[in-house]
Amino acid sequence: MTLALTGKTALVTGGSRGIGRATVLRLVADGARVVFTYRSAGDAADALAAETGAVAVRCDQADLDTLPAVFEPVRDGLDILVNNAGVALAKPITEITPADFDRIMTINTKFPLFALQAAAPLMRDGGRIINISSINTVVPGPGGALYSASKAALEQVTKVAARELGPRGITVNTVSPGATDTEMLRSVNTPEGLERVAAFTALQRLGTPADVAAVIAFLAGPDSAWITGQNIHAGGGFLV
Ligand code: NAP
Repeated sequence: MTLALTGKTALVTGGSRGIGRATVLRLVADGARVVFTYRSAGDAADALAAETGAVAVRCDQADLDTLPAVFEPVRDGLDILVNNAGVALAKPITEITPADFDRIMTINTKFPLFALQAAAPLMRDGGRIINISSINTVVPGPGGALYSASKAALEQVTKVAARELGPRGITVNTVSPGATDTEMLRSVNTPEGLERVAAFTALQRLGTPADVAAVIAFLAGPDSAWITGQNIHAGGGFLV
């Protein structure tokens, strides 16, 4: 049977947990050959690789020197890049340090930009690049200055890359998840806060990683060929 992504090669950053893990599962189910990165969750990455046949590569996005190793398994050609890995920081501006700035901006913005740069020459015409931002660029909360800034910068990179790579039929889009039930979400929110978020959401619940992975898979697939430079909010109607 020919699936939507049969014959395609995808690279997903941060595939060991959360939204990235769900994305690996979904892209494999859709027929893609998948390479994914992880930083610390080696056991989870090994289990996912064994379950799916995907290839796991260890990488810390704080260190750009890891880029060549990340792209080594796709040096023969790439069709889909999902810049998913990211970290959150909940800290008021009065307490942010220069080291915090460098860490969040490097992991959430600098590495994805240079991953996109490394992907471009390997990517076949008609490829797909999907950068994961956040609803927090539109609804920033106290303590979220660096996180929101890092994601907002990535959104701008997305728009420019859409123009630069468009002549090759490569689309570049942002997916901005709303509150999605992962370790990251629970690390920066109280259970009561998450109940309030769910109650304010049109669909009356938190998102699941699979909800977001389905949107990413759509943008990775053939039916999204006429969408580029856009930011798709995948948040169940938190924003309407
Ligand atoms: P998560 O559950 O914390 O998973 C993060 C993933 O990124 C893990 O696979 C982790 O690898 C990897 N990672 C973290 N730091 C890394 C680093 N320095 N280098 C390489 N990989 C690293 O997060 P998530 O909730 O799935 O979030 C995924 C993306 O969605 C992020 O960009 C996040 O900002 C965005 N997002 C999430 C939500 C939400 O509600 N969950 C909402 C909006 C946007 P290890 O586990 O191996 O360390």
